Amino acid sequence: MAAQIDLHCHSTISDGLLSPEDLVAHAAKSGVKVLALTDHDDVSGLKAAREAAPRHGIQFVNGVEISVTWKRRTLHIVGLKIDSENIALRNALDRVRIGRDERAQEMAAGLAKVGIAGAYEGAKAIANQSILTRSHFAQFLVQNGHVKDVKSVFKKYLVKGKPGFVDHQWMSLEEAVGLIRASGGSAVVAHPGRYDLGTINMLLLMHEFRSYGGAAIEVVTGSHTPPQYQQFAKMAHRFSLKSSIGSDYHGPGLSYMAMGCVPELPVSCVPVWDDWPEAQYLD
Ligand code: AMP
Ligand code: MN
Ligand code: MN
Ligand code: MN
Repeated sequence: MAAQIDLHCHSTISDGLLSPEDLVAHAAKSGVKVLALTDHDDVSGLKAAREAAPRHGIQFVNGVEISVTWKRRTLHIVGLKIDSENIALRNALDRVRIGRDERAQEMAAGLAKVGIAGAYEGAKAIANQSILTRSHFAQFLVQNGHVKDVKSVFKKYLVKGKPGFVDHQWMSLEEAVGLIRASGGSAVVAHPGRYDLGTINMLLLMHEFRSYGGAAIEVVTGSHTPPQYQQFAKMAHRFSLKSSIGSDYHGPGLSYMAMGCVPELPVSCVPVWDDWPEAQYLD
């Protein structure tokens, strides 16, 4: 059976295709009962999603997905049940978003060097007021015929060593976990199976994350294969971390997994929502 809880997805506030309201409606139609919206480095969609939730029978949970640099790699840390009005968190996310704009200009300069002009303006037009992410550059490059689809565009232009990649310094792991906790939230390592860390660094990450007060890791996510569900269920147990579930839905055609199709956690897992009032009526 599919899980009725989804604690990771994106709206037009970051790189998703649906507005916060439409995303809540879509989640409800897909059988989701408890939903967290987790836009990249931005909490400004939470109010609209929260207001829409009761109209669709959804229990809404505040969320954010913070970009972090750890050992020169980019990791994503999800914050759940954060206070979206918390000043320290808001200020820190403001800084990250300013950094995103500078990075986008550098990315465009890199693409210009290989003959692709106007990428900053093009990506910005697609982003339409939202933060600028690599997804928007990907869509610009596809729409302008530089590659055939969003999958190949990352490999060709937007990953390390390619012309549109910029090695950016995001927030530190300690700061991200600290801000999430200080705003009343629970910190969760997003899609741990996606980072090419190697065994030692993965164990170091879990240890360090736990030492800062991290709460959980995503065990079931659109980015993991079924064997990885088992692998990370064991990892969570080993480090006494709770487990989370999320589709990482970005919209039709932009997602690894549809909403409402995310498998349940392995039974050995302690859910990150085990003491949440929002989740008490889940079947
Ligand atoms: P950014 O935070 O600006 O680096 O953008 C990262 C976003 O790009 C992710 O959240 C995904 O939505 C998307 N993304 C990253 N890598 C890929 C990939 N290989 N294929 C498709 N989308 C990707
Ligand atoms: Mn994204
Ligand atoms: Mn992510
Ligand atoms: Mn995500």
